[in-house]
Amino acid sequence: MSKRDYYEVLGVAKGASEAELKKAYRKLAMKYHPDRNKGDDEAAKKFKEASEAYEVLRDPAKRQQYDQFGHAAAGAGGFGGGAGFDDVPFEDIFSRFSDIFGSDMFGGDAFGGARTGGSRRSRSAGQPGSDLKINVALTLEEIAFGTEKTLKIRKQTQCSSCKGTGAKTDSDFQTCSTCDGIGEVRQVSRTMFGQFVNVQPCPTCQGEGRIIKNKCAECHGEGRVKGEETIKVTIPAGVSNGNYITLRGNGNAGARGGSPGDLIVLIQEKEHEYFERDGNNVIYDLDLSIPDAVLGTDIQVPTLKGKAKVKIDAGTQPGKLLRMKEKGIQGLNQSGTGDQIIRVNVFIPDSLTADEKAWFSNHADSDSFDPKHKEQDGKGFFSRVKDVFQ
Ligand SMILES: [Zn+2]
Ligand SMILES: [Zn+2]
Repeated sequence: MSKRDYYEVLGVAKGASEAELKKAYRKLAMKYHPDRNKGDDEAAKKFKEASEAYEVLRDPAKRQQYDQFGHAAAGAGGFGGGAGFDDVPFEDIFSRFSDIFGSDMFGGDAFGGARTGGSRRSRSAGQPGSDLKINVALTLEEIAFGTEKTLKIRKQTQCSSCKGTGAKTDSDFQTCSTCDGIGEVRQVSRTMFGQFVNVQPCPTCQGEGRIIKNKCAECHGEGRVKGEETIKVTIPAGVSNGNYITLRGNGNAGARGGSPGDLIVLIQEKEHEYFERDGNNVIYDLDLSIPDAVLGTDIQVPTLKGKAKVKIDAGTQPGKLLRMKEKGIQGLNQSGTGDQIIRVNVFIPDSLTADEKAWFSNHADSDSFDPKHKEQDGKGFFSRVKDVFQ
């Protein structure tokens, strides 16, 4: 849906002064106020549209950006607070413009007493739960193909006895008398510059608007108890150390019906017996005996999916890298699968029998053992690793 021009929304000229903006917004807010237009979606839309326009234009920095770039200035993240007001609850709008809605002119009585007189307005109940963090150590195999983990989490869970309300029964709530159920207290002070309204959460009910007469015996009025929960989490292939997965709403339960926190699953990588990880590739160090390196052979190597056969050519050099295509880690977000790279070492024995020693001595002057001979054959470093760099 394309947005209307903010000036047009408020019905003011581009050069409108702050006072003119405020006046124009007041008029619209009065007309489309949700308390006066109950159940009228069109009015709600108009109210939010005007509030969004005023929010931007009343801020000189945002206004300047808007004048220059129009709605594009908001970008994906909006003007510092969400892309728009479509999903912003009315309560937030009231508190954002408390200078308008909190004033004598606009408060309580102007709207039929809906915001006074003890009827609890729909504040978010209770207090929000905190986030939890849990480390999950994964093997390379689990990382390579993705996995599902079952986690036992010790956390605050909703009290089953009161269903999280904290009260013995539903009729054990009492409207907070300090704030009349509004959840906040307002202090109006008049100065020579005008009237100021200071809005703060009510200290008696912590902003909840109600207090509990008879507390639930199980949770002592908290609405939550210490407990344990089993949670299944699907971990995609290709994650790395330090990646995390946020499970919304799986953290500590909120107090008295408050929204729960999140569970943050932090990925840790276990060290592997055979492999070293390099991005999506895994590196395997292979120790060859001199005869195998010289004569060539078929050997078995471990892979992330069990053993596999690899052919070793005659004359394989130490340091040679052999690539096993797509035997590595499946990349995150389908970014391809890595390889297994075999790094060849040749084991040089440090103790030989007299016979073996004699055999090496007898061939010490042979051209075949002369390193210069090898280099001239063009089997230097770059040709050895060419299958990796090509
Ligand atoms: Zn309880
Ligand atoms: Zn209160």
